[in-house]
Amino acid sequence: MPTCKHCTAEVETEDLIRHERRGLTLVHCPDCNCLMGQYRDPSYQSPEPVESE
Ligand SMILES: [Zn+2]
Repeated sequence: MPTCKHCTAEVETEDLIRHERRGLTLVHCPDCNCLMGQYRDPSYQSPEPVESE
């Protein structure tokens, strides 16, 4: 369970406020609204060519 570094609240991942930015998902604390982190959306289809061997 992620912990907010600003208000030290422990927040369920599903309760985080999410903002999606072109495949990058930013998560914010629902209590103090500070940025808690960011990660790449696994469902995002990258426009970069995939090398195949
Ligand atoms: Zn917080």
